[in-house]
Amino acid sequence: MDKISVIVSCYNEQESIPLFYQEIERVRKQDFPNEEFEYIFVNDGSKDDTLKEIKELHKKDDKVKFISFSRNFGKEAAMLAGLDKASGDYITLMDADLQDPPRLLKQMYDIIKNEDYDCVATRRVTRKGEPPIRSFFARLFYKLINKMSDIEMVDGARDYRLMKRQVANSIISMREYNRYSKGIFTFVGFKTKWLEYENVKRVAGETKWSFWKLVKYAIEGITAFSTVPLIMSSIIGLLFCLIAFLLILVIIFKTLVYGDPTSGWPSLVCIIFLVSGVQLFSLGIIGQYLSKTYLEVKHRPIYIIKETEKE
Ligand code: UDP
Ligand code: MG
Repeated sequence: MDKISVIVSCYNEQESIPLFYQEIERVRKQDFPNEEFEYIFVNDGSKDDTLKEIKELHKKDDKVKFISFSRNFGKEAAMLAGLDKASGDYITLMDADLQDPPRLLKQMYDIIKNEDYDCVATRRVTRKGEPPIRSFFARLFYKLINKMSDIEMVDGARDYRLMKRQVANSIISMREYNRYSKGIFTFVGFKTKWLEYENVKRVAGETKWSFWKLVKYAIEGITAFSTVPLIMSSIIGLLFCLIAFLLILVIIFKTLVYGDPTSGWPSLVCIIFLVSGVQLFSLGIIGQYLSKTYLEVKHRPIYIIKETEKE
């Protein structure tokens, strides 16, 4: 008998959790009569009654297990904690807000069982219900990162996926502190089939992503899976050296031919501004990588568990 682990990361999802449980149980009873299930809820330092809701579920259903963090560590850490704990042969990652429809699970499971795939991932083909400006920047980001990184990031890809044990183990083996899951999933490889579906609105509560958080997440993704910005700043530096060298030649030539009238003060100021701007920008890029390296070498734990269902 196959065992399927469902990992659900939750941050302030008190309203969604009962609805999620209801839906996943419905799907399990209807589509998976012969499979064993375990639900791993990861409470990512919620400030509301999320943990209480989870504990209630655990009391009436021993398929429900949970991990509760000591504070908010982010969804990436929550997913890793769930993977660390999961004992299933097949493992799926889902959001608590039902934006990752559990009804797709049967289709994903059939593909992984009957076809030659190690992993079935999902992507939403529409960005309906999302602010247009956000969609615009998201598209731009995917164009940019796919130019800059060897690893292909799929536009609209969700973290919702069903994978074989072997794939999960590979993800677990990547213990980096700066976790950009979309990149990690692609990095581990394996044969992945993409299922497409229409965007679904969340059932309750609200999204945890502000625009600013998304910008930071985008920078995270770029620095985690590409070193092109470093090369770019070197190229810009070289280009500026070349321009400066040509200008020096021009000035020497002009001085020899026309003498040396003192002029060009405003242009000098502009040049100083431009060049120091470029320098600071490049320093910033280096700083980004350095700060990531700093965090990695400290080897801090990726998450800290306060309690699980065993206590
Ligand atoms: N989440 C989490 N930790 C966080 C932020 C979010 O575990 O710090 C969970 C959240 O509870 C939800 C999932 O990650 O189950 C996706 O979050 P959200 O719905 O806000 O993102 P969106 O679907 O809008 O991309
Ligand atoms: Mg959501």
